[in-house]
Amino acid sequence: MKSIMSEKYHDVAIVIITFLVLISISQVASASAEYPKLLDVPWDHSPITVFIDDVDVPPHYSPTYRVQVESALLYWEDGGNSKLDFIPDFEVVDTDDADIRIMWVENIEEVTGAQEGVAGFWSPYEVNGVYLRGDIVLEVGNYQGYAWRQYGDLNMFLVAKHELGHALGLAHSNDRKDIMYPTYEERDSVNPLLLSATRPFLLVFVVGSMAVVVFLFVSWRRYKQKREHLEMELFGGSDL
Ligand SMILES: [Zn+2]
Repeated sequence: MKSIMSEKYHDVAIVIITFLVLISISQVASASAEYPKLLDVPWDHSPITVFIDDVDVPPHYSPTYRVQVESALLYWEDGGNSKLDFIPDFEVVDTDDADIRIMWVENIEEVTGAQEGVAGFWSPYEVNGVYLRGDIVLEVGNYQGYAWRQYGDLNMFLVAKHELGHALGLAHSNDRKDIMYPTYEERDSVNPLLLSATRPFLLVFVVGSMAVVVFLFVSWRRYKQKREHLEMELFGGSDL
């Protein structure tokens, strides 16, 4: 009886240790994963030209929004969140054949049918792994309940920085303090959010199923040993 008990503890210990080892392996693997990128080298030339459309604007556009976009361009030229492998150089131009076109709409959900909570998006035209050009669309306000509220300058600055981060090849970060954490908009044309959001759950699922398989194997082995033992006792090892 004592030996069966200790054998049981032994098996449980094996399962727990296997589980812990698998978890630590997955932790190390996710910690060493690089910062999520849409493209490592998004533009094949410099400077990157930017057209800010402050003429064809919606009714609630504020002239201070353009200043926020210009500040957001400077933010990335000064190193941004330090996750870029290059220093971007922007050139603001007056023609709309620019690399990046930035425009405003009254409400993104109404104009594009995007999900609620989306304050801006980056819509690139990508050829052979580089951006040929792209549009950044920003909305000037959002519904909070039934009341429509206009965005303040700080919000515009944050959304502009975030969308420009995408235009420079960065995907969404899991770090809440990072500018690429998807707080102000929840969907992109590439939708990297879905991937980063499901990855931790997927990992837990894989580790969990492996632990179950190990557990099942150990119990099956124990059952087999027990049965062999019982057969020995009952039939005395005779060939049946
Ligand atoms: Zn985003």
